[in-house]
Amino acid sequence: MTIYELISKKRDGYELSDDEISFIIDNFTKGILPDYQMSAFLMATFFRGMNDRETMSLTRSMLESGDIVDLTEIPGIKVDKHSTGGVGDKVSIILAPIVAAAGVPVPMISGRGLGHTGGTLDKLESIPGFRVDYSINDYKEKIAKIGVCLIGQTPTLVPADKKMYALRDVTATIQAIPLITGSIMSKKLAEGIDALVLDVKTGKGAFMQAYDKSVELAKKLIAVGEQFGKPTIAYITNMDEPLGNKIGNWLEIEECIDALHGRGPDDLMEITHQLSGTMIYLGGKTDSIEQGVSISKDMVQSGKAYEKFLEIVKEQNGDVSFIESPEKYTKPKFITEIKTDRSGFIQSIDALQVGLTSVSLGAGRLKSDDIIEPETGIILHKKIGDKIAAGEPIFTIHTNKSHITEQAKVRLLKAIRISENAVKKEQLIFEKLDKNSL
Ligand code: URA
Repeated sequence: MTIYELISKKRDGYELSDDEISFIIDNFTKGILPDYQMSAFLMATFFRGMNDRETMSLTRSMLESGDIVDLTEIPGIKVDKHSTGGVGDKVSIILAPIVAAAGVPVPMISGRGLGHTGGTLDKLESIPGFRVDYSINDYKEKIAKIGVCLIGQTPTLVPADKKMYALRDVTATIQAIPLITGSIMSKKLAEGIDALVLDVKTGKGAFMQAYDKSVELAKKLIAVGEQFGKPTIAYITNMDEPLGNKIGNWLEIEECIDALHGRGPDDLMEITHQLSGTMIYLGGKTDSIEQGVSISKDMVQSGKAYEKFLEIVKEQNGDVSFIESPEKYTKPKFITEIKTDRSGFIQSIDALQVGLTSVSLGAGRLKSDDIIEPETGIILHKKIGDKIAAGEPIFTIHTNKSHITEQAKVRLLKAIRISENAVKKEQLIFEKLDKNSL
């Protein structure tokens, strides 16, 4: 077979066999298949899609392109969570200590922020000294010792995804459901999980904005997880407005510390407890998700989740004194309140615009080599449904770039809509999907 024939086959809408898919992925990973041919294949897949068998085969070939972590020596059912990403989505950092404190081991390999969404690794690295670059052996040792470890992708895990993602990013082929499925599931399966919980975001600030596409993606992810023998449960959740009240790396860690002390915002805690409760259930600790949610709440109320978070920070070389006294963290040069001149009720807050503004303030990167300023970002004082009076602050921006302040203010004021009439809070968790939903 030649790659030319395989590209033509996919371009014309035919199915590829398992061997054909593995031929493409192997040769691309080894550097034999050039970027221009892989780009053509990715675009053909973008338009023609893949059926379930092809998607499964793609995931397997990507998974087998590198090492697969074996955590069988560690007792317990290992469960991770993956979110398709959103603005202010700091759930992993709260949920990992909750679930580990409940006795379910959490192997978590996370990503960095790119575009308008933040990344768990960047948030964790805003804690002075915190390391996410441990080897797989260290990762295993830490999970065995404290029940959880949060690290970044290593060069030997799913090398195919690193190369494919970089190419998809510059060839407008990111938003293809089979390619997203292969990318997410190969990485999750490589980290040594036994079960998986997925948070598939939908709405303005989500990677997949349309509801039906989010459901389609969730079902593909579940189908692949289940075929690999890993029980997988997905939630479709709302990402029209940012999650919680803080956006930006250290600001989000501050909100996580509050959350672990039982003072987290309602929306953030609702999602966190649902997802961690589901992980506790899949980890075999309860007979139902509801019981899992109740254990998750107990872990926060009893202080056990906060203690576990301190243990994680210490184990991963972070300076716990910043967790114990967050007020001593370096402040940004400029802290500016943004007020509205209208009274009423918050009708919408465009998460995409808030995320992009946060990036412009220094909290994210648009190119992979952009430098993040961890102390920058945005605080939201109001959420959808809240009452606001003219002259009240709606946002506070934290930045080191004074020239950006005026532009950020205009952009943020445009991102909110205020209604004269009372507005109902939006539904946060739309639906739960599992193998019975396929
Ligand atoms: N996240 C991933 O890890 N891969 C994708 O393709 C999209 C989102």
